[in-house]
Amino acid sequence: ILYNQMQEAKGNIRVFCRCRPLRKDELLAGHATVVKFDAAKDGELGILTSGSTKKMFRFDRVYTPEDDQDASPMITSVLDGYNVCIFAYGQTGTGKTFTMEGSETNRGVNYRTLEQLFKTAEERKEIFTYSISVSVLEVYNEQIRDLLAASPTSKRLEMRQAPEGVHHISGIVEAKVESIKEVWNVLQAGSSARAVGSNNVNEHSSRSHCILCIMVKAQNLITGESTMSKLWLVDLAGSERLAKTEVQGERLKEAQNINRSLSALGDVISALATKRSHIPYRNSKLTHLLQDSLGGDAKTLMFVQISPSEQDVSETLSSLNFATRVR
Ligand code: ADP
Ligand code: MG
Repeated sequence: ILYNQMQEAKGNIRVFCRCRPLRKDELLAGHATVVKFDAAKDGELGILTSGSTKKMFRFDRVYTPEDDQDASPMITSVLDGYNVCIFAYGQTGTGKTFTMEGSETNRGVNYRTLEQLFKTAEERKEIFTYSISVSVLEVYNEQIRDLLAASPTSKRLEMRQAPEGVHHISGIVEAKVESIKEVWNVLQAGSSARAVGSNNVNEHSSRSHCILCIMVKAQNLITGESTMSKLWLVDLAGSERLAKTEVQGERLKEAQNINRSLSALGDVISALATKRSHIPYRNSKLTHLLQDSLGGDAKTLMFVQISPSEQDVSETLSSLNFATRVR
């Protein structure tokens, strides 16, 4: 259903907004909810700013805290040869990882997407042969790390541009996968590599972009034609601004890099949405990496994750403004 909605709607950029429930500690502390979902079915949500002022935002879809995980949208596009990027954007603690990774009992976009990919590939096997491989990367402080490399801490990747404009990352590990079980193992390997060299895994993951790239090679058995497409699943670094007093030394550098790459991503998507002639891909590693999958006939979906709490209202407004700009 989602896929059909996307097909009908104009353009290739979709923005979904998802609000997490209040946490137990927030409920206990008596935090009020500032997010209003009266028109969530129409893709609208309201934020109570000061007093009774309500600021309205409109997206392609709004998930309330009660809404479940979904089958992954846009998946057929990948099997049909289109490049697709799916991002989760938002303040730390708003559910980016919940939406993308989910848990073993409540699978997120990544797993559901891959599951659907294998299922559809199986259904189409009389006509197409698909070959699927996966890379797991991380961008931290504007450096790309290959989390499937034998020694991820020592491996830093550089981009190379081939004459046809297709980007190659030299030396990247592409793990060929034939079933969803194999994918699960690859994802686990990626997560444990991510933890290497960081003393606090959660903190580290909120300060780096975690990227899954799924490459699909399709061969049409009837025409002999073959296509290559990529699906990027990106759990972005936390978008929160840090208090000035808190930020020094290494943290300052991290914060500047996160800020720079998230603004660069916003600039690229909004330049694409407004069909500007110059798309500033080169301003960050992330946009450079995704260059051949952002724009053209590629499809983009951004989940903007928000908190319902009054305590987070300024970050919420800043995330919603970011999302409005890219739409
Ligand atoms: P982020 O990756 O943005 O920092 P997480 O995905 O780690 O945030 O989510 C923070 C917490 O909120 C986790 O405990 C997660 O399970 C919970 N959570 C987030 N979104 C939802 C949701 N839609 N429904 C229930 N729990 C959620
Ligand atoms: Mg996270």
